[in-house]
Amino acid sequence: MSNMTRRNFIKVIGGATVAASFPMIAQGSSKGRVVVIGGGYGGATAAKYLRLADSGIQVTLIEKSSEYVSCPMSNEVLAGERPFDSLRVSYNSLSTRHGIEVVHGEVTDIDPVRKNVQTASGQDFQYDRLIVSPGVDFRWGAIEGYDQQAVEVMPHAWFAGPQTLLLRRQLEAMSDGGVVIIVAPPNPFKCPPGPYERASQIAHYLKHQKPKSKLLILDHKDKFSKQGLFKQGWAQFYPDIITWVAGSSDGKVNMVEPSSMTVFTEFEEHQGDVINVIPPQQAGEIARRAGLTDKSGWCPVDQKTFESTIHNDVHVIGDASIAGKMPKSGYAANSQGKVCAAAVAALLNGNAVAEPSYVNTCYSVIAPKHGISVAAVYQLNDEGKIVGVKGAGGLSPMDASPWEREMEAMHAHSWFDNIISDSFQ
Ligand SMILES: Cc1cc2nc3c(=O)[nH]c(=O)nc-3n(C[C@H](O)[C@H](O)[C@H](O)COP(=O)(O)OP(=O)(O)OC[C@H]3O[C@@H](n4cnc5c(N)ncnc54)[C@H](O)[C@@H]3O)c2cc1C
Repeated sequence: MSNMTRRNFIKVIGGATVAASFPMIAQGSSKGRVVVIGGGYGGATAAKYLRLADSGIQVTLIEKSSEYVSCPMSNEVLAGERPFDSLRVSYNSLSTRHGIEVVHGEVTDIDPVRKNVQTASGQDFQYDRLIVSPGVDFRWGAIEGYDQQAVEVMPHAWFAGPQTLLLRRQLEAMSDGGVVIIVAPPNPFKCPPGPYERASQIAHYLKHQKPKSKLLILDHKDKFSKQGLFKQGWAQFYPDIITWVAGSSDGKVNMVEPSSMTVFTEFEEHQGDVINVIPPQQAGEIARRAGLTDKSGWCPVDQKTFESTIHNDVHVIGDASIAGKMPKSGYAANSQGKVCAAAVAALLNGNAVAEPSYVNTCYSVIAPKHGISVAAVYQLNDEGKIVGVKGAGGLSPMDASPWEREMEAMHAHSWFDNIISDSFQ
């Protein structure tokens, strides 16, 4: 894609959050009740767009938290560049504007035969179709010593909330000249560029507040998302701060010791003043407990409707699902929420499911006026797998001007406002 074409493309998707990826279907009389588990980017979008597709469908959204805290943009909170409160999202609009029954509780059981779900407080909900969007869970035990106690010393901050604030406090308390370590996970995981955007944001803070400090990324992988663009940005802004160690160069952390603030790779041990461990991941616990996962730890689905290939009438979207070539991102979850809502509305009305298209853009802000992105449009191939549309999207050009980088940082922020509005309001 030429730079100009790409710029226009980004402008369109950054500004409008692709309402077009939701195939509108004819309004029809409703026969159904849909329960949605998980009010994140995937679940909230699916619930809202189901009601937009057919206001006769009864939709119940069950979410364990009373408000949503967005992971997108949480790295800017770590840098002190954004207030934490700007990540907080209310569920009010979903109920008042869209007529969704929002229930705050934790789903503990799904019975795909009786077609009901149960919450920890003993509530029971019947469904005709169920949409499950529980996000990810960690593979506890994959890194020796990293357990529920260790997260209070070496925060993951991979679920935005108290962990984000803890990591920020630790960075503030660290003295100038300290060492920050980020332990980056193996694929697949939530937000492929996230650890590297985080490194950039933390380095920005260090550069301006604690310039003698260093940041070490110990990676499980040899390659990462937007690598060329990140490395270019790091060389420009943080040449003496960030060091990245690839998995094959002994970057894989297999053990941590919180008491001595040490992490261990195969051959070395590294001590840090602040250590951010992002562990290996799998589908959220309720998906695993309900038997919706395969041996990969993720949920196989029919990629046209997101209906589970294991349990009928149960759809899985967002990070927990296996969605072909789509990454695990908020934007992907939002796009899948729309596709799934349209499919579920069609199925409940006895209509044919329309041919879907899907979209994703992942922005990363390396410095306040320096943004980069990767974008793609997706379709189903002949085998029913989600694949990228050739020639659509692409990476920010390596030779972009400072003005273009500044525009991309601006688009990142407008994308955030738009996706929150599109998913939750
Ligand atoms: C640091 C960071 C930065 C990121 N930046 C970006 C970005 O810039 N752009 C982007 O597109 N993506 C970004 N992401 C990724 C994005 O956050 C996820 O991909 C997205 O949130 C996935 O949506 P989801 O609906 O699958 O899951 P989630 O948003 O995680 O939502 C899952 C919801 O389900 C609820 N839940 C789980 N189990 C239960 C249960 N048993 N009962 C009731 N409720 C339950 C949870 O409380 C949660 O609210 C980032 C992630 C991180 C960590």
